[in-house]
Amino acid sequence: MVQQTGLFIDGRWQDGASRIENRNPSDVSDLIGLYAQAGADQLDEALAAARRAQPAWWAAGIQKRHDVLMAIGTEMMARAEEIGRLVAREEGKPLAEGKGEVYRAGQFFTYFAAEVLRNQGDLAESVRPGIEIDVRREPVGVVAIISPWNFPVATPAWKIAPALAFGNAVVWKPANVTPASAAALTEIIARQDIPAGLFNLVTGSGREIGQRLIESAGVDAISFTGSVPVGRGIAAAAIRNMTRVQLEMGSKNPFLVMDDADLDLAVAHAANAAFGGTGQKCTAASRLIVHAAVHDAFVEKLAAAAQALRVGHALEAGTQIGPVVSADQLRQNLDYIAIGRDEGAELVCGGTRLERPTEGHYMAPAVFAGTRNDMRINREEMFAPITCVIRAGSYDEALAIANDSPFGLTGGIMTRSLARASHFRANMRAGCVMVNLPTAGTDYHVPFGGRGASSFGPREQGRYAAEFYTTVKTAYVAAGAPA
Ligand code: NDP
Repeated sequence: MVQQTGLFIDGRWQDGASRIENRNPSDVSDLIGLYAQAGADQLDEALAAARRAQPAWWAAGIQKRHDVLMAIGTEMMARAEEIGRLVAREEGKPLAEGKGEVYRAGQFFTYFAAEVLRNQGDLAESVRPGIEIDVRREPVGVVAIISPWNFPVATPAWKIAPALAFGNAVVWKPANVTPASAAALTEIIARQDIPAGLFNLVTGSGREIGQRLIESAGVDAISFTGSVPVGRGIAAAAIRNMTRVQLEMGSKNPFLVMDDADLDLAVAHAANAAFGGTGQKCTAASRLIVHAAVHDAFVEKLAAAAQALRVGHALEAGTQIGPVVSADQLRQNLDYIAIGRDEGAELVCGGTRLERPTEGHYMAPAVFAGTRNDMRINREEMFAPITCVIRAGSYDEALAIANDSPFGLTGGIMTRSLARASHFRANMRAGCVMVNLPTAGTDYHVPFGGRGASSFGPREQGRYAAEFYTTVKTAYVAAGAPA
């Protein structure tokens, strides 16, 4: 029997207005299940339930919130293999990555379980005698979370965990391509001893349910990860309601390879950051800016590394690169291959659709060489296993190219020079800089986010998350003289 999964609203699972099919991108004959699509009235019900539930959750206190978050995180880590398999089946990332993602999602909950206990304020003396001042953080209220498909468990986890930790209620609209991962995370949260309506899963299409959610006056804050056009629309809608907003969007992350770099390590890191997760990461190394002295050797080695990668079924042992998430995304990727060629870039390897024993959305990792930074393939986020090499004559030129982008999420440099590494760290306009490391791969206890078109609003993760998920209250108290 095909699994059917509903919405979780006001503390109970319910059917939606309609259902969609969810199929495995490694094998489209594998129907994972049928997933509910919320109607407008169900979204409104979720928002009203969240509004009712939030004060009780805040009043429950820090020990309760700590315990609930710790329980969610511990269970996720214990079930990383099982839920990771579902993530791999649904999203297409290799099993080891799916398992790693779920374990990491658990760590976001256990980290924020501890942050609950550290929610301390400030004390100040007043300039007026006899008055005491304290500054404390309070919940924002009802938080709308809109998440993408590429990390269908980790990204929502790094939003849901701080939202709940700081006493907020949540209405979550996950990506419609990955509803099974969303249901698995919700199933764990739903079993906790929390007020009915505190946490709501409202699956449905972004253009309908997502749009209604971001336009709702019943939302106090919106946290979004996804594409730039949708992010811009959310920002515009949020400002109309004076709703707090946080956006994490795309990037064109530069990865500099200098003439003094360990070339084999540079190739390994470039291949990892460009093609890991089938290139579907906002931190992917998509512009490889390579010093002329090592350019040709680097391109040759990178092409060999790309061709050696095993592309296959996400659940098959030995697979390094899974399929692209959907037929639409694969079509878009192949369009970018054509665009790059038309612009005069040289396709060194890959860029074609691959046949495998099961029918899926497989694509050979592609390397473009001879590219210019003004080409569309170097300006637009492709979210594909495609990377572009740009030749640079010097470190200064490489840095100037790296900074010539509307985006600024991550940037990396491979060099043995401390002077260049330090200069890069100070002058790369990005939210995260990496020295002798891939552009992708971040920790869970420190801030994450970018500049320019990559991010808008306060940072996510670590203790910086409190900036978004809390509001500050300054209290003035005149106790008076004892009677
Ligand atoms: P979207 O930005 O369309 O989707 C992200 C999330 O927003 C999904 O939950 C989506 O729902 C929802 N959404 C879509 N439209 C609206 C709307 N009008 N109002 C509110 N929510 C909405 O990204 P896609 O999944 O379509 O991917 C397209 C491209 O976006 C990729 O090729 C990539 O370039 C970029 N992207 C970047 C990510 C990142 O981490 N920076 C992550 C994912 C994508 P639904 O799934 O139902 O459409």
